[in-house]
Amino acid sequence: MEINNFKSYCDQFDRASHELGLDENLAALLKYPDRELAVELPLIRDDGSLKVLRGYRIQHNDARGPFKGGLRYHPQVDIDEVRALSALMTFKTALVDIPFGGAKGGIQVDPASLSARELEQLTRTFVRAIYPVIGVQTDIPAPDVNTNAQIMAWIMDEYSQTQGYSPGIVTGKPISLGGSQGREAATGVGVSIILRETAKHRNIPLEGASVVIQGFGNVGSWAAKTLHSYGCKIIGVSNAQGALYNGEGIDIPALIKFRDEHDSIHLSSLAEPIEADELLCLECDFLIPAALGGVIHKLNAECLRCKVVIEGANGPTTPTADEVLWGKNIPVIPDILANAGGVIVSYYEWVQNLQRHYWESNEIAQKLEKKLIDSFYEMAALAHTKKELSYRTSAFMLSIKRVAEAVKMRGRIT
Ligand code: NAD
Repeated sequence: MEINNFKSYCDQFDRASHELGLDENLAALLKYPDRELAVELPLIRDDGSLKVLRGYRIQHNDARGPFKGGLRYHPQVDIDEVRALSALMTFKTALVDIPFGGAKGGIQVDPASLSARELEQLTRTFVRAIYPVIGVQTDIPAPDVNTNAQIMAWIMDEYSQTQGYSPGIVTGKPISLGGSQGREAATGVGVSIILRETAKHRNIPLEGASVVIQGFGNVGSWAAKTLHSYGCKIIGVSNAQGALYNGEGIDIPALIKFRDEHDSIHLSSLAEPIEADELLCLECDFLIPAALGGVIHKLNAECLRCKVVIEGANGPTTPTADEVLWGKNIPVIPDILANAGGVIVSYYEWVQNLQRHYWESNEIAQKLEKKLIDSFYEMAALAHTKKELSYRTSAFMLSIKRVAEAVKMRGRIT
């Protein structure tokens, strides 16, 4: 089976750079990461045994601002995946026009297999290992799959022990340590804002629109909660344990309460269990993959029965699946726009940390909304100039152009 990796991203990049007529050498410079760091991380387990884990920090491009991107703790983390994710960050920050570059990091580990002490130890060891390449003005990590505000707090503390109080070294921190209002919800809220604008743009009534969401973590559950509050009907959700369906619409606040109390959703009686594979093929207005990459691929793309795919996850649709969906007239709103809410509010968090001055939540919500709406219509306007331009290619074209401009203006290709 195809998986999401650097090759999938390269395919997306190549289409857009070809469309832009980008010089071959400049294209090569923008396509590949600037720097790749792989580290070995020794961890003394609670039983006294030693385990050595592998971690990465890959810095794709910093022409427009410091490297920026999340940290993922997952057994499937590998260098190809981190490379692809780092590049997506460069083009995401450029598309929504915030002054950051792109990076990504991760550790190949299942954090559920670690105790809280082991998780903290591993995180601190990782910070020391990548210390030479991160910094408040050089590279600022953030949460991603299986990492959260607590882990960001440990990162901030470990870094601050040698550098002095440095809240701006990481975003997605707890509010008490300089985190921003609205950061935790930002990606899922952003997905919902983009869905709302897509509905308006494509004349799909938002009230009562049926939505299926794969993944019920940070992004999926905040998107579900926000869309439920917009009046959408969330008919299917899933997480790594299983999938649920209720054609009448799931009571999302009740499901979130159940998850918080039981640490699971699949035993809830608010919906019927279905096979995980069935979820993506449910008939609906909007399908939101909000878990891992490569989940819509050549073997299942044909079965999709949604009107639009909104990519909450990074890289959920492979290039072959993209082509199948194009043929089925199912538009895909790309990850670099749909899930950009998180990095936008991360940017606001970093700005607040630098200023030591904190903003009200409504100020952040308004700024987020405006950034996303402006970026959506910019992308849509370009896509409508040419029949064969997908939303994804248009989004990449806009962002590649911005990064290319910065690279040239900085004289990096002399
Ligand atoms: P998370 O760890 O909070 O949640 C991941 C969810 O996916 C969990 O509910 C997990 O059970 C579920 N999942 C894992 N494997 C699954 C499978 N095979 N089928 C169904 N569900 C599965 O992670 P998150 O922060 O919500 O990130 C989800 C996606 O969104 C990732 O692709 C991430 O890169 C992307 N993203 C996250 C942010 C952010 O701010 N957290 C920002 C931009 C993009």
